[in-house]
Amino acid sequence: MAINHSLFIPLFVVAVATFCFSCYQRLQLVAIGSAEDRFDNPGERLAGMFSYAFGQKRVLTRPYGFNHFFLFWAFMLLLIANGAFLLEGLFPGFSLAALPAPIHHGLEFIFDIVSLVALVSVVIAFVRRVLFPPAYLGNDYTSARSGEALLILAMIATLMIAFFLLNAAQIAMGQAGSWKPVSSAVAALLNGSTGIPLENVAAVSWWVHAVVLLLFMNFLPRSKHMHILTAIPNCYFRSLEKPNVQPREEFKKGNRFGVSAVEQFSWKDLLDSLSCTECGRCQDLCPAHNTGKPLNPRRIVHDIKVNLMDNGAALKKGDRGIVPLIGPRGEGSNHEDALWSCTTCGACTSVCPVLIEQMPKIVKMRRHLVQEKARFPEELLNLFENMEQRSNPWGIAPSDRGKWAAQLGERPFKAGETDYLFFVGCAGSFDSRAKHVTVALATILDKAGVSWGILGREEQCCGDSVRRLGNEFVFDKMAKENVALFKERGVTRIVTQCPHCFSTLKNDYRQYGLEIEVLHHSQLIAKLVEQGKLKLPKQADQGKVVFHDSCYLGRHNDTFEAPRAVLKAATGKAPAEFERNQENGFCCGAGGGRMWMEEQIGSRINLERVKEALRQQPDTLCVSCPYCMTMMEDGLKDEGVEQVRVKDIAEVMAEAMA
Ligand code: SF4
Ligand code: SF4
Repeated sequence: MAINHSLFIPLFVVAVATFCFSCYQRLQLVAIGSAEDRFDNPGERLAGMFSYAFGQKRVLTRPYGFNHFFLFWAFMLLLIANGAFLLEGLFPGFSLAALPAPIHHGLEFIFDIVSLVALVSVVIAFVRRVLFPPAYLGNDYTSARSGEALLILAMIATLMIAFFLLNAAQIAMGQAGSWKPVSSAVAALLNGSTGIPLENVAAVSWWVHAVVLLLFMNFLPRSKHMHILTAIPNCYFRSLEKPNVQPREEFKKGNRFGVSAVEQFSWKDLLDSLSCTECGRCQDLCPAHNTGKPLNPRRIVHDIKVNLMDNGAALKKGDRGIVPLIGPRGEGSNHEDALWSCTTCGACTSVCPVLIEQMPKIVKMRRHLVQEKARFPEELLNLFENMEQRSNPWGIAPSDRGKWAAQLGERPFKAGETDYLFFVGCAGSFDSRAKHVTVALATILDKAGVSWGILGREEQCCGDSVRRLGNEFVFDKMAKENVALFKERGVTRIVTQCPHCFSTLKNDYRQYGLEIEVLHHSQLIAKLVEQGKLKLPKQADQGKVVFHDSCYLGRHNDTFEAPRAVLKAATGKAPAEFERNQENGFCCGAGGGRMWMEEQIGSRINLERVKEALRQQPDTLCVSCPYCMTMMEDGLKDEGVEQVRVKDIAEVMAEAMA
C-alpha cells in the first residue's frame, strides 16, 4: 500500500513537538517542588520498579487487576509495533519485512494476538466502568466514568480495529502473509463482502491508525492518563523507607515548617500527584473515608495535582499561587477537617499500585497548621503542653513512671548486666488497664530468664503522637533527648509492648542515628516460645479468640505472624480472623494522634471495627497495642456488649504460664 509520506512527515513532526512540549511543561511543574534525595540504591530501586510497574505486583492483588495487567503488557509490546508503524510512515521502504522471515513472522503473529488481547481488555474495561462500577468508588467518584476516561478507551479500541482492518485488507490483496490469525479471519470476512475497494480500506485504516495514534500520544500528558508516562518513574523513585517515617525538619532561623503551598512539597510529592491512576483503592481502605469523614486519600492526591495545575503558570513565573492548598472545600484545596481525620494507618500507602505516599503529605500539611499557624483541634492544646512539660500525654509526674514495678522490686537498666531495656511507654506506665499488660510482660520475661531493666523516671515519651500530629518541633526535642539517653546508658536492645513506641524507636529514630535492635513484645515472646524458653503448663482457655492487627505493628512493620504465633502457643489454636485482616486490616481509630482527639464527624472508627469483630462471635478480642485495647474496650462498652473480653497477647501468654 502506498503511504503519502509528504503528508505524514509534517503531521508527525508537529505531533512529536507538541507531545515533547507538553511533557516539558509537566516536568517543569514537578521541578517546582523542593529537593529530595531519591537517587540512592539504584539496584533496589530498579528491582522494585520491575516488580511494581512491570510486574504489576499490587495491581494483581485484585481479581480485576488481570485486565489491567493484560492491557499494560499489550501496550508495552505494541510500542514496538507502533514504533515500526511510524517509521514506515516516515521512511519510504522501511518495513519489518526486512528482518529474517522467522523473526518478522513471529513478531507479526505476536502483535496480532496482543492486539486482540488489548481490544478485549478495553471492551471489558468499558463495560465495567459503564455498567458495573465497583461499589467502593462511591458517588463522589466520577473520573472512572468521565468522558475523558471513555475517550481513552475509545481511542485504544479504534487503534486496534484500524490495525486489524489494515492488515486484513493487505492480506486480502495478497500484500501480506497469513501468519496473523486474527487479521486473516477479518480478511476472510472482508473478501468481497464490503463492496469497498480493498485498497481504500487499507488507506483509510492506515490514516485512522496514524492520526489516532498521534492524538493519543498528545492526549496522555494532558489527561488523567498521564500516569501512563509517570507511573514507571514513580515506582523507581518510591520511598525505600517505610513511609510512616516522615522526613526531618531543620529548625533553623528563616526556615518554613510544613507545607502550606504546593511548591513547598518535594518534587517527588508532585510526581506522585501526577501519577495517580484514580483507581480508588486507597479510598476503599481508608478508615476515615469509610466512616464518613471528609478525608479521602485519593482526593488529597488529586487536589494537590489540581492545585499544581491551577497555580502552575504563576509559580513558574516565581509568583505565589492563587488557589490555596489548605482551604475551604473545593477542587485543588484540602480542608483542615480532612487533614485532621487521618489516623496515619498507612492503608492508603500500602495499597496504592503506583506507590504514592498519601499519608506523609497529610502530615506535612499538619506541620504547617501546628507549627506556623498554631491552628489545631482544641483538645490537642493540653496534649502538646503535657508532652512538652512532662513528656507524657496526661501530664502525670515523671516520678510516677516506674511505680507499676513496685511489686517486682527495683529493676533499673544497667548496661552489660541487663539484656533488654524494657521501654514501657506512656500507656504502659500510666494507664491503669495497660499497666496489667506491662506486668504480664515483665512476668513472662522473668520466667523465661530474660534480664531486663527500665529507665524509670528518666524514660520519656517516644513522641509518636506529636510527630504524626505535625508537632515536629516537640518530636525533634524528644527524639534527640531519648537517643542521647539510650547512647549514654549503653542501650543495645529494646523491647516494648506498644507498636507506636516500637515503630518510632525502630524507624523514626534512625534519622537521629539510633541503629539498635528494637523488638515488639510479640516478636520477643514468639522467639522465646520457639527457643523453648517458656514453659506452658496449661493452655489459656479464652473461648473463641479473634485477633485485631495494630497498624503500626502489622502494616507499618510487616509483623503479622508473631502475635498470631503467641496466641496459638498460649491457647493451642490459631485465632480467628477479622474479615479485614493483616495488610487489609482496619484501623482502631487511635493512630496519628487521633487517640487524643474527639471524633465528631461521621461514625466512630472503633465502633465499625468492634462491629466487625462481633460478626465473628468471639469470647475474647485480642490486641497487641495499648491504643487498640482502649479503642476496643470503649467500642464494646458503647455497643453494650459485656460478655466479650479484650486482652493483650501478653496477658493471654502469662495466663498460660501461670
Ligand atoms: S493513612 Fe489511613 S486514615 Fe490516613 S488517609 Fe491513609 S488510609 Fe486514610
Ligand atoms: S493514590 Fe494510588 S491507590 Fe489512590 S487512587 Fe491514586 S493510584 Fe489509586
